[in-house]
Amino acid sequence: MRTSNFYLFPLKENPTDAFLASHKLMLRSNMIRQSATGIYTWLPLGLIVLKNIENIIRDLHKDFMIQELLMPTIQSAELWKKSERYSDYGKEMLRISDRNKAELLYGPTNEELITDIVSKDLRSYKDFPKILYHIQWKFRDEVRPRFGVMRCREFLMKDAYSFDTSYENSYLSYCKMFLLYLKIFKKLGINALPFEAETGPIGGTLSHEFILETANGESEIFYDKTINDIEFKNIDFNDNEKVKKLILEYSNYYSKTSEKHKKKFFEKNVKLENRKYSKGIEIGHIFYFGTKYSKKLNSMFLDNNGKSNFIYSGSYGIGVSRLVAAIIESSYDEKGIIWPAEVAPFKIGLINVRVGDNLSTEYSENFYKFFKKKYSIIYEDRDIRLGQKLNIFDLIGLPVQLIIGEKNISNNNIEVKDRKSGKISLISKDQIEDYLKKNYEF
Ligand code: ATP
Ligand code: MG
Repeated sequence: MRTSNFYLFPLKENPTDAFLASHKLMLRSNMIRQSATGIYTWLPLGLIVLKNIENIIRDLHKDFMIQELLMPTIQSAELWKKSERYSDYGKEMLRISDRNKAELLYGPTNEELITDIVSKDLRSYKDFPKILYHIQWKFRDEVRPRFGVMRCREFLMKDAYSFDTSYENSYLSYCKMFLLYLKIFKKLGINALPFEAETGPIGGTLSHEFILETANGESEIFYDKTINDIEFKNIDFNDNEKVKKLILEYSNYYSKTSEKHKKKFFEKNVKLENRKYSKGIEIGHIFYFGTKYSKKLNSMFLDNNGKSNFIYSGSYGIGVSRLVAAIIESSYDEKGIIWPAEVAPFKIGLINVRVGDNLSTEYSENFYKFFKKKYSIIYEDRDIRLGQKLNIFDLIGLPVQLIIGEKNISNNNIEVKDRKSGKISLISKDQIEDYLKKNYEF
């Protein structure tokens, strides 16, 4: 991609009407544009990041053999009346009626719909276990939409739903999703901590929230600061007992500040000086709710004795669009965003310092043509000030900048600038690929 073609219209200054750094930076780099209160357009730069996150989530669900489907944004009110959530959900639900006065709603979540869908297919104990997910826009008419896409009304969620024949099996699906979530957040380049949580309007008995610690997050958290990252790399995911033990271990160290959990946390033997009070952003939430919805919607299967039983379920959400803001909130500086390489809109920004110089331009063009075949790269080919070129790539947070300058090309050298540290290294053109592989794993 060339900057001369790309839809790239960053603002010179930070917008004054935004409070959070992520909100300011997303507006300033022209990733999003508000179109109505709490409703946003994703401009090309923002959409690339959103899609990168979606794809990482997709790939890892695939690895866990969890299948994707796509449910509609608009749902019929009928199922919600059966589950008795039509009235419970209150004003957060956007209710619509069509030309025939049929009651519809813009889905805030999908437990009812998916339970109804699988009840027509999962009829025998042999059809279990199953986990399905989709990535779809949700609408919640939040009382106070704020902080840009962090808390908005229309947002993108990945929601998965598990179906099992017993509590024990359903608990295993829950543990599997728990581990999958740790993997996803790690792959996204962020350190999300799992906290035991309240279940809220989704209902159920067992629940964890995944929270990214940031200075201005809305969630208050407590945890044992000596536990940074419980080792899960060496766990055999098929070893059910080990998996269960691991989840319990996590539950012991992290706690939310609801009164119930606070009390539980302080009753544990965490030494006073190790208790950390902090803030964070909820980026994922998982629930076990058992037969709550299958009972209401009469969703049953035949067990191996030919007896009818209700299906056991859980639901597992990730705030995909919120993640874009959350990642920025945990990784930026005064110059702009610092993307983890995995989600960056482009991994490499190539700068031709002197567009007016024929030799520099030819060199840069050749380099770009070669590199674009292999790497995600944006090429600054415009005739604008060098300072401006560097500032834009800093602002939009590209992990690496390759700077092609008049003087260096005579020695076949290129400047490689690391966005995070700001460090500039002079690397020979032939060594660049090795250097990038070694330092950035791409
Ligand atoms: P919150 O406590 O932040 O209001 P929630 O508990 O209502 O969120 P869930 O029903 O657990 O949300 O939804 C799953 C995920 O969707 C959340 O973990 C969050 O990342 C995301 N999410 C929820 N509400 C919003 C919103 N208004 N804007 C953006 N993302 C949201
Ligand atoms: Mg939640």
